[in-house]
Amino acid sequence: MQFETIIGLEVHAQLLTNSKMFCRCSAAYASADPNTHVCPVCLGLPGALPVINHGAVQATIMTGLALNCSIPEYSKFDRKNYIYPDLMKGYQISQYDLPLCESGHLPMIIDGEAKNVGITRVHLEEDTARLVHRTANGESYSLVDVNRSGVPLMEIVSEPDMRSPAEARAYLMALRQILRYIGVSTANMEEGAFRCDANISQRSIDGSVVGPKVEIKNMNSFRSVERALEFEVERQRKALQDGEALAQETRGWVEDRGITVSQRTKEFAHDYRYFPEPDLPPLVLDRAEVSEIEGRMAELPAARRTRFVEQYALNDREAESLTVERSVADFFEETVNGKEDKAREASNWITGEIFALMRDSGLELEDVNVMPGQIRELIDLVDQDTINNRTAKEVLVAVHDSGKDPKEIVEERGLAQVSDEAQLLAVVRNVVDEHPEAVADYQNGKKAAIGFLIGQVMKQMRGTANPGVARSLLEQELAERVTS
Ligand SMILES: [Zn+2]
Repeated sequence: MQFETIIGLEVHAQLLTNSKMFCRCSAAYASADPNTHVCPVCLGLPGALPVINHGAVQATIMTGLALNCSIPEYSKFDRKNYIYPDLMKGYQISQYDLPLCESGHLPMIIDGEAKNVGITRVHLEEDTARLVHRTANGESYSLVDVNRSGVPLMEIVSEPDMRSPAEARAYLMALRQILRYIGVSTANMEEGAFRCDANISQRSIDGSVVGPKVEIKNMNSFRSVERALEFEVERQRKALQDGEALAQETRGWVEDRGITVSQRTKEFAHDYRYFPEPDLPPLVLDRAEVSEIEGRMAELPAARRTRFVEQYALNDREAESLTVERSVADFFEETVNGKEDKAREASNWITGEIFALMRDSGLELEDVNVMPGQIRELIDLVDQDTINNRTAKEVLVAVHDSGKDPKEIVEERGLAQVSDEAQLLAVVRNVVDEHPEAVADYQNGKKAAIGFLIGQVMKQMRGTANPGVARSLLEQELAERVTS
């Protein structure tokens, strides 16, 4: 029997606000000592009243707009009731039937084909406390850190539109890219600012067999999402083919064993006894404010990619690598700085040398000690024949190490390219004298030997010889030696 895979994803993304969702505690809890960013509200003490963080509401609306959602006129918060040690109040303030954003889609390119993944809804809620599990003297225990409790959290629910684990991963990466572009979340998965649960099931192509929906949790990287879903596709297909019963359940991904294990039977909405949050007023979403939010939203990655191809005459691949992160796209445009004829060179420098520098040093672009203006200066120095490309690459490393400008480094180190024929000819003659074998090879038709001789000229000139001038002088000299 032939099956197809049905995947829908729920993403929880922490919002980059200064304060928490319903109190004035700082939301920057990650590096703080445990239980220092707390107050009666986020500790869930009796009588404490929540106040809505409007910045979080705006960031969620912006996310909805970026995902082509409609923003209803009214929204409200609800209580989701459940008992777990990480939930201080015994309920979570979330949204149930009137989310902030609904019915959107995320356009993607899958295997060269355009495909929209539907977005069911984006709603706003509060994060829970963090549990830290420890073992001492053979006994295991858990610690509660309330710093995370009450941090604004968006839940982005997709339609079950993905058909493979690879598509699920591509969706997550596209979503993460958008959140980072519009600046609402770091979307850092390793730090828990971007968390994903997946719903996955199998359906026979002829529609005669439909497997139950299984929810997968505990996936902490893009790679583990893909691995967990691949495992689950195999497990579910085998069970269906062997006629075994599959349960509708929640399963956890166990990274080091590479398997999913049953955690509990799946909950349903009625298990949570949702009801409207009585301590908060309903939200009226003013149309003028929604337009204002849309107006200040950053250009989205797909639009920027298309613009880069059109405006700067780049190919799709170049535009793609330059727009992966907004910081890189900004860096590129600052380097070009309106001079579109320099775009190709700027692209080569950034995707080549700057990316290599980031890889080798493990730094983010923000931490690389090279400014867009300095790349521009390097490009100009090469275009004006002051230095050659090879020297320019060394200068770039020196800029990163010293923070000095390219021109300054070229002057200080005497790196300016030598095009002076008299000076170069002396070196060329020297090299020809010293390497009779290569000269003989060249004379006997192995023209490639000239590359070695140019290399020797470069070496004696510490890389500063103008390679074009060096080559033509060498060709002349070699031609003269044959006739003499
Ligand atoms: Zn608080």
